[in-house]
Formats: sequence, C-alpha cells, structure tokens
Amino acid sequence: MTEHTAAQLARATLHRLARLELPPTPENYTRIYRELAGAEGSMLSDELAYDACAELLPVAKALVAAITDKTDQLAVSMGERSREMESSVRELNRATEKEEIRQVLVGIVSIANAIRSTVEDSRADLVSTSETLKNIRVDLQQTRALLHEDHLTGAQNRRAMDAILAQEVARARAHHGKLSVIMMDIDHFKTVNDTYGHDAGDNLLSHLAFIARSVLRESDVLVRYGGEEFLLILPDSDMEGARFVIERLNQVIHKSPLIYDGKKIAVTCSAGLAELKDSENGHALILRADAVLYEAKREGRDRYKTAD
Ligand code: GH3
Ligand code: MG
Ligand code: MG
Repeated sequence: MTEHTAAQLARATLHRLARLELPPTPENYTRIYRELAGAEGSMLSDELAYDACAELLPVAKALVAAITDKTDQLAVSMGERSREMESSVRELNRATEKEEIRQVLVGIVSIANAIRSTVEDSRADLVSTSETLKNIRVDLQQTRALLHEDHLTGAQNRRAMDAILAQEVARARAHHGKLSVIMMDIDHFKTVNDTYGHDAGDNLLSHLAFIARSVLRESDVLVRYGGEEFLLILPDSDMEGARFVIERLNQVIHKSPLIYDGKKIAVTCSAGLAELKDSENGHALILRADAVLYEAKREGRDRYKTAD
C-alpha cells in the first residue's frame, strides 16, 4: 500500500465515522479503517493504521475537546438552571410554608377571637351574675328586714323581738350588764280611731314610733308589741336609765301632737318599766313590765310605773 492510499483510506475512514455518527476514538477509527482497507482487499498493518490515526488524532482531540467544552457549558448551564429550579422550588416551598403558616395563623387568630369572645361572654355573664347576686342580696336584706319589721311603723315586730331580747339578756348576763324594758301603751287609742278614723289612728302610730326613735339611742330597740303597744328594749340601761327615757319620751309626746287633716291629735301614753333580774329570762322581764303598765292604766293613765 502506498502512502497516498493510506491517506485516502484515512480520510474515507473519517467520512465513514462521521456518517455513522461515531466518536473518532482510536478504537473506532482502527475498526472502520480496517473494514475499509479489507473492502479494498489490501492488507494494512497496524503500524500504518496508527500512523494515519496519529495524523487525525489532533483533529479528533479538538472535536472531543469541543464536545467536552460544549458538554461542560451545557453542564454549567444545566447546573445554573438546576440551581434556579432549586431556588424556585425553595421559593415555592417557602410560599407553601408561608401559606400554611398564614392559614395556621388565621386559625390561631380565629381561635383567639373565639376565646376572647368566650372570655368576654363569660365576663359579661359574671358581671350579670354578680349584679343578680347583689340584687338578690339586697332583696334578701329587704325581705329579712321586712320579715322583722312592722310595715306600718317601721318598728321591729314580735318575731324579731324574741331573738333580740334573748340576745340582749344573754349579753347582759355574760358581761354583768344591765338591761331594762319599757312597755308602753297609747291611752284611749280607740277614741282616736272612733273620732278621726282608722287612717288617723295609723298615722298616730307612725308618729309615735318616729318620736320614740328620735329619743332612743342607736343601741335601743323599738318593738311594736301589739296594736297600740310598744316595747322599748334598752341595753346597758338600769331602772334610772329607763326612767330617763320614758320621761323624755313623754315630754316630747306631750309637745308633739299629730297634725292630721288640719287637726291636732294629742295623746298620752302609759308605761311600765322593769329592769332585768339575775334569775329571770326575757319573757318574765316583759311580764313584769306589762303588769306595772296596767297599774299605771288603773291609776289614771299618762304615767309610768316601775316594777320591783
Ligand atoms: P286604754 O287607754 O285602756 O289603752 O284604751 P285604748 O282605747 O287605747 O285600748 P283598747 O284596747 O280599748 O283599744 C285599742 C284599739 O287600738 C283597738 C284597735 O282597733 C286599735 N288598733 C289596734 N291596732 C291598730 C292599728 O294598727 N291601727 C289602728 N288605726 N288602730 C288599731
Ligand atoms: Mg291603749
Ligand atoms: Mg292596748
């Protein structure tokens, strides 16, 4: 084989490689070269083949370098795209997370609002409950007061008297204190009713209760004992104290007639005074006061008598 033939074979080999789209590696080149050389019936030594190959190697290397370069560029570009994608995915993830967080926050805000609304409702309920309780307490106090009060005169009633008297007797015993009572009855009260009417009689009862309260001390207790009978409980008072009270009270009663329907209604009262004895209870004390009250009535009224 001439050198010329070898060069032609080498070119033909390169063309075939290109046509077959095979990379111009030494192995591919040698294989195709041998095929072409065989087809021509020539015997081509390995040495020659490599010579030809050496001629074309720089071209092949340049091609490989170009492809490698292109591949590198592609890789770089792909890397950039990939990073962009990753960044986008991260953004997307972040966006998703943000949305989720937003949704969670919306949920939390809604729960917080519900809790706040519940708390506000509860507070409103509490305020209204406490208002109701306050009203109930006031109602109870008023009811209790009414239960113990005579509605016409505002004096304590008999029910209240039992408890108060028992309490005051116990207190006097415990502290070796004094306790006196005054049983007082309006004289000829029936005549007042008959002359001026029942309403005038009612007004007179209220009037006398008002006068009595103005004369009594804070710790003294005014009881409406019966129709026109009042019991005055005087804690820490002996007979002298009770005397002082009834005299003062009678003075004021004498000076303060009831003005009713333009008319003056003057009344007097009779009274019986008793001071607690060591041995007796409240009931016995009242009975003694009541007994001397009727003595006063018998003796002419508008006076008081003291029990022994
Ligand atoms: P004395 O001097 O002996 O006490 O005579 P009195 O008229 O005061 O006593 P009497 O027991 O005879 O009459 C009491 C009257 O008081 C009879 C009753 O109708 C009247 N009375 C009792 N409670 C009330 C009341 O709440 N209002 C009025 N207006 N009258 C009453
Ligand atoms: Mg009377
Ligand atoms: Mg009477």
